[in-house]
Amino acid sequence: MENVADYNEIVDVIKANGGKAFKLCYQCGLCDVVCPWNRVRTFSMRKIVREATFGLTDIESNDIWLCSTCGACPQQCPRDVRQIESGVSLRRIATEYGVFPNTAKPIRGVSASLAAEGNPLNEQRKERAKWTEGLSVKPFNEEMEVLYFSGCYLSYDPRLKKVAAATASILIKAGIDFGILGTQENCCGESIRKTGDEELFKRLAKENIKNFIDNGVKKILVSSPHCYHTFKNEYPEFMVNFEVVHITQYLSELINEGRLELNKEYGKKVTYHDPCYLGRHNGIYEEPREVLKKIPALELNEMPESRETSLCCGGGGGRIWMETPKGERFSDFRIEQAVGVGAEVLATSCPYCITHFEESRLTLEDSESLVIKDITEIVAEMI
Ligand code: SF4
Ligand code: SF4
Repeated sequence: MENVADYNEIVDVIKANGGKAFKLCYQCGLCDVVCPWNRVRTFSMRKIVREATFGLTDIESNDIWLCSTCGACPQQCPRDVRQIESGVSLRRIATEYGVFPNTAKPIRGVSASLAAEGNPLNEQRKERAKWTEGLSVKPFNEEMEVLYFSGCYLSYDPRLKKVAAATASILIKAGIDFGILGTQENCCGESIRKTGDEELFKRLAKENIKNFIDNGVKKILVSSPHCYHTFKNEYPEFMVNFEVVHITQYLSELINEGRLELNKEYGKKVTYHDPCYLGRHNGIYEEPREVLKKIPALELNEMPESRETSLCCGGGGGRIWMETPKGERFSDFRIEQAVGVGAEVLATSCPYCITHFEESRLTLEDSESLVIKDITEIVAEMI
């Protein structure tokens, strides 16, 4: 996502002259070859681009809501069509006109929850710091080394609160002077932006930025690759630049500096899933693996599709809020790949990936014994 001007430009161009923003496409179809949707149904980004070029986009179509913004096709496109920005611009038009097909309808409720309570989960803002109960987590002040921004899913979701707690326990053990903003924290806005609700994204981002500045925040530690992506690459559109660190980078740094010692033996076979917004979108492939490799007696086996070719879990681009029918879930394939390489543990570092993998694990045969872990949960057990 480059900047606000890109979106506005694409929307204006589509509206004004039938989508000349897409004129560079020469219909090679490479985007369709790499798109994970084509494993489960017929879907063509090439067709979406072609229709938009001629001003023929059907805004009521389900297709413009399918892209999970995984980043696989822009990586392959020889013409720099910027499919994600282009697809999001079509969603922006649909959002402006209030046209949502059935699959995209849940987004309206998500937007209402974000606008009212600052999270997409219909939870109350006043409960946002409840995950810290029983933990020695302090409110952030400007003397502190780092702000820990837990994000919505780690603050409220029962499964993911365990990841927030594991992270806090590691930071405390390593002696990091950190704090949280608690009820002042808002959703980062990354995913709602990809559904086309630009105004809501701007509102969430501006509120977060104001809170960061008012509280004297300089360095932000995040658990979600989606928070990482938007703080690092999208918030600078508002003329701010905070130091943003993903937890896998921070853990790698703490271990290398000797501030965190991993003393216990894990004794399990692990495979690592690269989240799209950590890997393809931000090039963070090494640090998560470095952390896992430092854990004594942990055997790391790679899945067939890893690093740049990692298989999307299906949760990006707002898809986390839309129903994906059984049989069409990319996460099912990923679980099968993890079982296929003999993993006992599927490790990752993204709340959306964990949510989808936990769901798939329970619905597939032969995978119930596979354990899904955030890297922080493994590290917390080893210190
Ligand atoms: S890969 Fe790029 S040039 Fe090829 S069809 Fe897709 S959008 Fe067009
Ligand atoms: S970004 Fe990913 S999901 Fe979206 S069209 Fe491209 S390959 Fe498909």
